Amino acid sequence: MLNDPANPAMIRVTTQRYPRTVASPLDQKLSAVLGGRTAAAFEKAFGLLTVGDLLAHYPRRYARRGELTALSELPLDEAVTIVAEVLAVSERAMKARKGSILEVRITDGKGIITLTFFNQAWRKKDLRPGARGIFAGKVGDYRGSLQLAHPDYELFETADAEHNENRADGAADTLAQTLADTLAETLADPARTKAWTELPIPIYPATSTVASWQLQKAIAVVLDTLPPIDDPVPDAIARIRGLLSFARALELVHRPLTDADAAAARASLRFQEAFVLQAALLQQRQRLRTAATIPRVAGALLDVFDATLPFTLTGDQRAVGEQIAIDLADSSPMNRLVQGEVGSGKTLVALRAMLAVAQSGGQTALLAPTEVLAHQHLRSIVRTLTPDLAARLRPTILTGQLPMAERKKALLAAASGSSLMVVGTHALLSESVGFADLGLVVVDEQHRFGVEQREALRLKGAQPPHVLVLTATPIPRTVAMTVFGDLDISSIAELPSGREPIESFVVPLADKPGWMPRVWQRLAEELGKGRQVFVVCPAIDATHSDDELASQGTGAPLAASGGTVSATPKPTQPATVLATLEQLRALPQLSTARIETLHGRMSSEEKDRVMREFASGALDVLVATTVIEVGVDVPNASMMVILDADRFGVSQLHQLRGRVGRGEVPGLCLFVTGAQGDTLARERVEVVASTLDGFELAQRDLELRQEGDVLGRVQSGGRSSLRLLRVVKDAQLIFEARDLAAAILKGDPGLDGEPALRAALERRLDAAAEAFLAKN
Ligand code: ADP
Ligand code: MG
Repeated sequence: MLNDPANPAMIRVTTQRYPRTVASPLDQKLSAVLGGRTAAAFEKAFGLLTVGDLLAHYPRRYARRGELTALSELPLDEAVTIVAEVLAVSERAMKARKGSILEVRITDGKGIITLTFFNQAWRKKDLRPGARGIFAGKVGDYRGSLQLAHPDYELFETADAEHNENRADGAADTLAQTLADTLAETLADPARTKAWTELPIPIYPATSTVASWQLQKAIAVVLDTLPPIDDPVPDAIARIRGLLSFARALELVHRPLTDADAAAARASLRFQEAFVLQAALLQQRQRLRTAATIPRVAGALLDVFDATLPFTLTGDQRAVGEQIAIDLADSSPMNRLVQGEVGSGKTLVALRAMLAVAQSGGQTALLAPTEVLAHQHLRSIVRTLTPDLAARLRPTILTGQLPMAERKKALLAAASGSSLMVVGTHALLSESVGFADLGLVVVDEQHRFGVEQREALRLKGAQPPHVLVLTATPIPRTVAMTVFGDLDISSIAELPSGREPIESFVVPLADKPGWMPRVWQRLAEELGKGRQVFVVCPAIDATHSDDELASQGTGAPLAASGGTVSATPKPTQPATVLATLEQLRALPQLSTARIETLHGRMSSEEKDRVMREFASGALDVLVATTVIEVGVDVPNASMMVILDADRFGVSQLHQLRGRVGRGEVPGLCLFVTGAQGDTLARERVEVVASTLDGFELAQRDLELRQEGDVLGRVQSGGRSSLRLLRVVKDAQLIFEARDLAAAILKGDPGLDGEPALRAALERRLDAAAEAFLAKN
């Protein structure tokens, strides 16, 4: 028995690997070139293993010496670049809160300024008296004296012996070193000064253990000894696009002589990145399509279901359903993304697909992002199926928090094939879960899952299962193409008829501080009509934001941002679930209301109980974090109050709002914010209040958001993530690269004529596989 749950070793998650066709210098281990200690430090800090990894660790930016400012004439509030020497370093504890401040006084011989670093005492190691370098940052005023808080810097000194042990002889005498030696005389000679000021200094993503200059040196060693390398971009394409050769681009991205060099290098590498990525996605798509699987044709089960449905399908539901039916009946696996407005009835579409697969005894694994949602899915599936159908299909839940006995039962139901629908969370991905005949994988609310998770589930079928991905976050086309480039995409824009629209209002406390009591009054009126209300807060209590919010938070992680960690001003405390609960319970007009909380720190049984009680109408008000964000469906909930709405992202607000107005009662959503009128934070909230169109919001969101956030978790760092490519800015480039890659693959599916491209795709796959294996 292949899928014996008692023997998890039988069903390992295996990751497909392909034999390397070309041995490339890029695959050489860093330890062989840089020595074990440096290699280990680089692996630990950035996951860099090979020469190729290191060379793809591109500079974050280039310091421009052309804009050197004298310390004696520093302009307040402006970004400056200073060449200076460290005079003194001191560390002191902060008075008001925990932590320490490192103060570094530097001079350029004419003036003195203080650099401050919060909780980064380790910088003492580099910033020693006598150290010289370039410092860049914004000039601030602290109690009457000028300072740079958390500046970027690049030290010229290389004297730190402990870092030099692995240097290849001579090779590491970088420009910076030479420059340091000749700084004084160079600055005295106008002609040389000009050349010197134009030489860009690469600044690398660095960490507390590996400094930018260490990377710069290591990369110089690698570049100096690099044998010829092949270009993954075919010659013909490189010529049409006017690209630098790969080797030349790598040289110039790391050691540009002018800004123009760096720009040309980045443009070439950016195209290469888009091209290789699209080729990889297209090939993956091709490969998935050529795999053989069991065709699933709908029959009596779906007919019975459709006949007993209390409503008619919307046009979009019907159309997408037909597409899915065609996909499922094919002998190559379906890979389809259904993106649909919140409340457009995607679950129903998925359920109909499950019934089609169940007709021939095929099982479905439904992967939900949270325990609450998994339980809700199970309940709503059971509710929607007739008792007869439910008995046939035996929907089962499998989550991480199930008691052992139930978990065993669920594992058995999945492995024996007695349950045709297994709903669960990430626990479904675990190795011990096996299926008798996994025919369909449904991933709900895809934006919470990465490609790897989809892949892990896919590998659980004896034959590759059909895959249906659902997302309520409308995805702009380039993002879809980049993240889901291996999927077919269909959309459900239409909402079921009879829906009352949701009214949205911003409650701007900055302008109208007196409006809060009116919000609560309105809430009480809503309860008076027999309706229910959500109140959403950004945090659980003063010390805990909810995990769901972590990726949205204001405080970006410090890692990999090198010297740019800006001193984020401590925001005021956001509204919390626990404080809001107290506040509401104390209101006289709510004295009879039944109010409960829902947040990520509650156990899954508690969460499930509260959700059930709210769904059944036993509770009136739910004070919650974003755990209610996705999918929660309570038709009688007519109003939502979102506190500190500016703390949430655009699409998150839209998702949250989608929780109300799902029945026949009109929905009302109040976005409460303390943000000032002309801030970006306020604009985000206003944008959401101004339209209910998720596709339009997705586009506006892209425009308002910082580039790096676009791909969310799917895209948060890691070796297989995007480097120079930006899905919004480079949309056109991505389209073009995709077309070119498609043309190459069409003529040569196995890439036999393009060994370098083939090798680059294999390298990508390996990186993705390693990232996946490391996470699991
Ligand atoms: P979402 O797309 O956000 O996941 P759901 O699948 O949860 O939306 O559906 C929202 C609600 O709409 C559910 O209560 C569902 O039963 C109902 N629904 C789905 N399709 C229709 C339809 N064609 N007509 C009326 N109600 C529908
Ligand atoms: Mg849903």
